Amino acid sequence: MRQAGRDLLNFCSNDYLGFASDPRLLDALRSAAGVGAPASRLITGHLEEHEATERLLASLVRLPEALLFTSGFAANLGTIPALVGPDDVVFSDALNHASLIDGCRLSRARVEVYPHGDLEALEQALRARRGAGNALIVSDAVFSMDGDVADVAALRGLADIHDAWLMVDEAHGLGVFGPQGAGVCAAAGVQPDVLVGTLGKSFGASGAFVAGAPALRAWLINRARSFVFSTAYPAALLPVLRAAASLVEAADDRRRRVLEHAERIRREARGLGYEVPEGESPIIPVLVGSNERAIELGRALEERGVLVVGIRPPTVPRGTARLRITPMATHTDTDVDHLLEALAAIRSPA
Ligand SMILES: *Cc1c(COP(=O)(O)O)cnc(C)c1O
Repeated sequence: MRQAGRDLLNFCSNDYLGFASDPRLLDALRSAAGVGAPASRLITGHLEEHEATERLLASLVRLPEALLFTSGFAANLGTIPALVGPDDVVFSDALNHASLIDGCRLSRARVEVYPHGDLEALEQALRARRGAGNALIVSDAVFSMDGDVADVAALRGLADIHDAWLMVDEAHGLGVFGPQGAGVCAAAGVQPDVLVGTLGKSFGASGAFVAGAPALRAWLINRARSFVFSTAYPAALLPVLRAAASLVEAADDRRRRVLEHAERIRREARGLGYEVPEGESPIIPVLVGSNERAIELGRALEERGVLVVGIRPPTVPRGTARLRITPMATHTDTDVDHLLEALAAIRSPA
């Protein structure tokens, strides 16, 4: 990509499969019947094409139905308060995405934040639950700043035992994991009660959907305020989503490639002495400690033609500033060589 007039290798993109600039998606865009939508879906914004696209997205994630939202942030802000309220309790992983956190807050449910990935703590909290209200367990599928993958099978088990709903945000799982890119849940053979998929990452477009039972979709249509009171998903992107869905489904080679790149970067960065936590996704955090160091290393990489943005608190916990490296399927081995050479060159005696 070009930035400030020079070419940089982008190792800081959520476009894992490299479809955001794919000519086939541009062709689909040109075939669109319209651009925007005249109103919200419940007024006059609804198109038959919305439903056709939703059916396609639901089948991609192997769930009965889906509903489009204009962004993942809007999907989470609308969905959680539609499902739980002041009499209910949400169990939320400490590293969940900001949009899930804000959805929880907006719901006015009691929120029990459990330490990241700590299933024992979650089970204890579920056991200690009192009252007649509903319970909802909420988790990212792939944690967006740490790149580790949630144990969704264990979460499903706990939800079943303790009579809770399970909501999984597949923002970084969709397209990358699972059969035909169906996500982390599909890879584990797990059906969450609520699955959120975003369309601005592996799909290379924009927007999101919430998938689950027909009753969930019907409920959200009337209760998710970010759906009810917001202009319908733009017509221009509906054919793009359908084209992207078929590209994503057929992209086994790209999935393999991006995961191979990630494995190599993790291994070789560790070999260079960097602190890289365990993980299996294309999100590779390189912990550098201080904010200043993160910025400094980001700049030094940029001088070597590699774009990796330093991530600092409050996006991540204090003292865990990091470089967050994300390879793409369209990177060549030479591109990855270049990244690793740059990482070697800027490494300083700690
Ligand atoms: C990116 C992201 C979102 C927000 O999706 P947008 O479509 O960009 O608003 C929600 N959840 C997670 C886990 C994300 O990484």
